[in-house]
Amino acid sequence: MPGKNLSRDEAQQRASILAVDGYQVQLDVTSAPDPAAATFRSTTTLTFRCSEPGSSTFLDLLASAVRAVTLNGRELDPATAFDGARVHVDGLAAENVLVVEADCAYSRTGEGLHRFTDPVDHETYLYTHYEPADARRVFATFEQPDLKAPFTFTVTAPAAWDVWSNAVHERVTAEGDARTWEFAPTQPISSYLTAVVAGPYHVVRDHYSRTLADGSTLEIPLSAMCRRSLAPYFDADEILGVTKLGLDFFHEEFDYPYPFGKYDQAFVPEYNIGAMENPGCVTFREEFVFRSKVTDAAYEGRANVILHEMAHMWFGDLVTMRWWDDLWLKESFADFMGSYALIGARTRYSSAWITFANQRKAWAYRQDQFPTTHPITADIRDLEDAKLNFDGITYAKGAAVLKQLVAYAGSDAFFEGARRYFKAHAFGNTELADLLDILEETSGRDLKSWAAAWLQTAGVDSLTPQVTVDSEGRITELAVLQDGDVLRPHRIAVGLYDRDADGALVRTARIELDVTGARTVVAEAVGRPRPALVLLNDDDLTYCKIRFDAESLETLRAGLGDIQDDLARALSWSAVWNLTRDGLMPARDYVALVLRFAGQESNIGVLQSLHQQAKGAVDLYADPAWRGEGGRLLADGALRELRAAAPGSDHQLAWARFLAQTANGSEHLGLVRGLLAGTARIDGLDVDQELRWSLWLTLAAAGQASDEELAGELAADNTASGKRQYTQALAARPTPEAKAAAWSAVIDSEELPNALVEANIAGFALPGHRDLTALYAAPYFKLLERVWADRTIEIAMRIVGGFFPRAQTSEQTLAEADAWLDGNRGAAPALRRLVLECRDDLARALRAQACDRA
Ligand SMILES: [Zn+2]
Repeated sequence: MPGKNLSRDEAQQRASILAVDGYQVQLDVTSAPDPAAATFRSTTTLTFRCSEPGSSTFLDLLASAVRAVTLNGRELDPATAFDGARVHVDGLAAENVLVVEADCAYSRTGEGLHRFTDPVDHETYLYTHYEPADARRVFATFEQPDLKAPFTFTVTAPAAWDVWSNAVHERVTAEGDARTWEFAPTQPISSYLTAVVAGPYHVVRDHYSRTLADGSTLEIPLSAMCRRSLAPYFDADEILGVTKLGLDFFHEEFDYPYPFGKYDQAFVPEYNIGAMENPGCVTFREEFVFRSKVTDAAYEGRANVILHEMAHMWFGDLVTMRWWDDLWLKESFADFMGSYALIGARTRYSSAWITFANQRKAWAYRQDQFPTTHPITADIRDLEDAKLNFDGITYAKGAAVLKQLVAYAGSDAFFEGARRYFKAHAFGNTELADLLDILEETSGRDLKSWAAAWLQTAGVDSLTPQVTVDSEGRITELAVLQDGDVLRPHRIAVGLYDRDADGALVRTARIELDVTGARTVVAEAVGRPRPALVLLNDDDLTYCKIRFDAESLETLRAGLGDIQDDLARALSWSAVWNLTRDGLMPARDYVALVLRFAGQESNIGVLQSLHQQAKGAVDLYADPAWRGEGGRLLADGALRELRAAAPGSDHQLAWARFLAQTANGSEHLGLVRGLLAGTARIDGLDVDQELRWSLWLTLAAAGQASDEELAGELAADNTASGKRQYTQALAARPTPEAKAAAWSAVIDSEELPNALVEANIAGFALPGHRDLTALYAAPYFKLLERVWADRTIEIAMRIVGGFFPRAQTSEQTLAEADAWLDGNRGAAPALRRLVLECRDDLARALRAQACDRA
């Protein structure tokens, strides 16, 4: 019994003998509104050819039951053909028709066909999510990206519902309480990209049209949808506005007409990830429909995701990686395009590259320093490996490296390469070499060594300036030292900064050069006066960690917030955070920098990441003996800046949320209670529903919210979001009973939906409750293998990552993690990878604490 995994070898073997002509998939979801109905009927008719008649193969299917399997008119016994994960068929003909009838389960984990009932109006909503391999939870399929085929969906659903899929519907017929939706065949696509969305969704329709180069007109019907109870908050105009700018931009750049007909965007409940690029039917997490005030960083983030998914219509959907090794071929591109298009498509989000440099790359740097890091082009043996590779390397590092390639090869060559790539490989599958060949053609450069250095090796280099000066303070030599497991060629700009007449730190010189090897001399710097700050990788051209010479670091300590340029300042913030994470700057020094200069930070996204990092620095990286004081300093700082922030501004909201995260003493908690009760006010601060929940969470975690009060808030906001936050608040109470209940809710039941698994873990695992949760470390390590075997991979990943005793920063916990790793060498590699990464975070925290203590 092979279990639920599928190996690359098996996929290659299947692809070597099979070609699929089409799938007809019939789903009957009329039972969905009945909570007692666990399954829906799924019938797949698959037409495919086999180049080796007489051989056997298998389909992937995770079904509750298989009712019938018929191959070329011959009935097979489901009891022997179906092993729980695969349908085995033998005696294949050259041309085959296979019919599989199954009962598949409605999902509560966001994998497969997810079912959600809205607590507000009791309406039921369905949507699918498959990547990398959950189409098999809905229909029988060859679950691998390179067996593309046209899919024709037919869905029978309650009569009051609408249904969407990748293609337009051709016919809707009513019968009794149901309607049957027959969709047009799709273009040839991979199974993980198919989609069905069904329910009484609120829909906003629009239209995009464009005259193409040949004079014809391209018409794309647009729609955006969300649950009915979210309709009052649905700013579809803004969403569709970004959509149209994106369609203009990608048509200009890619010169390949959008290939999938219409473009629907569904905002769906309890979604596991940000969004998914199903051709013509993109799904997004519905938290992108903002119920309360959010900062502009949230709008920018959403616009980025809209453009990221749209870029996938070409990179990923039209041209798809052959196997998950080349996942980067689509994700790195889409991640790069998300930021590139925010600027290029002239959206109002002009600081996209600052966000990228400061936040997206932080994800990459973190991931790239784990012992489990990997080259951007990865070695993905099977589906479990694939699931874990949607990570900071595949997305953010890959995007950073592409940004660099655009600088290196030129954007004209890059986009000309993209255009040729789409035309050459439309509706096909590719590997690294297919892209490199074309880019070499268009750029006229040898990209093999570039690819070897950047795509095929792992790890991040650090660059440090070394400055020597003469007696008059003039530079006699400026060298860039490179440190890392693999020394790479870096194109960088070196920024020299000094104070201007107003005291601002401004760039007085910019020197661009190639850095190669361990030491590179910046010849152009010789003879210049020694500047206050030397900023390597200014303008964020390459992917590296930036270090400073001693004098530059002193300048930052005294005046980081005085750097005038937003990107240079964001890069400096990132660099001092990396120093802290690496145990080279005491956590309390980092916290002091944030307390001193965050109030001056104009970029709202950067400010919010400073909040997160400062909190993390105190919780995990500070000497435990100083933690209490550090926490008080953060809360005092939050209150001070909250009172100073402009009324009604994003900054005010960000500081209010930070206060909610840090409040601990009676003064702060009193203010929190007053804000909730309406007895305290901060001018311009609207204590709306989401902020109310943040404040309740604070009180709950401090043991100052009664059960009646929390229940009362839920009664006032009995929504999906309210339910989640109520659950989190219950788990956040500082009592052994609350922790036990949260742990048990997640571990002892498989019924809890993904959203509530997440809420329970978030409330349980508060770092401030480390004394209460310490006794769960031992059971955690005992449970790991069982969790991995019994739970779906999405839920297992959350439990393994979420319940790891990260707040127990002690040598003892490290030893427990090592003991598990030593004793479980045969555990699933994907499970070991997760534990290794958590263990590495813990070891890093201990190093940082040692630095802070010294
Ligand atoms: Zn993507």
